[in-house]
Amino acid sequence: MIDKRPKVIARCTDAADVMAAVNYARENQLLLAIRGGGHNGPGLDSCDGGLVIDLSQMHSVPVDPVSRTVRVEPGCPAADLDHATHAFGLAVPLGIVGSTGVAGLTLGGGTGYLAR
Ligand SMILES: Cc1cc2nc3c(=O)[nH]c(=O)nc-3n(C[C@H](O)[C@H](O)[C@H](O)COP(=O)(O)OP(=O)(O)OC[C@H]3O[C@@H](n4cnc5c(N)ncnc54)[C@H](O)[C@@H]3O)c2cc1C
Repeated sequence: MIDKRPKVIARCTDAADVMAAVNYARENQLLLAIRGGGHNGPGLDSCDGGLVIDLSQMHSVPVDPVSRTVRVEPGCPAADLDHATHAFGLAVPLGIVGSTGVAGLTLGGGTGYLAR
């Protein structure tokens, strides 16, 4: 559906990778796009001729059942979050399709089964 051709795709695995990618784009004056779950309809997570920071490999979901909180890395899909929280009887209002990214759902979206 999306026909964009970035020059470089940085498949980051930690914050240091992201910092290096941002610095590389700045030093080389490259347009920058950020990919979380990759479900943005218009393809705003990619760009032509620039650098894509692909966060899809950063998807850990540590749950703290005592404080009933969960943190997600920026490439975490909704299904991984549901899987990790369900075991502790917790749930987060998100979207319906499991492959959608938590990052994008948080920035603009979040309409799902737990919405009223
Ligand atoms: C099949 C499908 C089903 C969907 N179902 C639902 C649903 O049930 N409920 C709902 O509310 N929405 C739904 N959506 C819409 C979805 O919430 C939005 O498209 C959302 O933006 C997708 O997030 P993503 O992380 O997967 O996408 P991405 O394309 O990776 O990111 C979306 C936008 O956020 C930016 N972004 C991502 N991560 C970061 C970051 N760490 N820092 C800064 N910017 C960042 C990207 O550059 C992009 O502009 C659905 C979309 C699709 C394609």
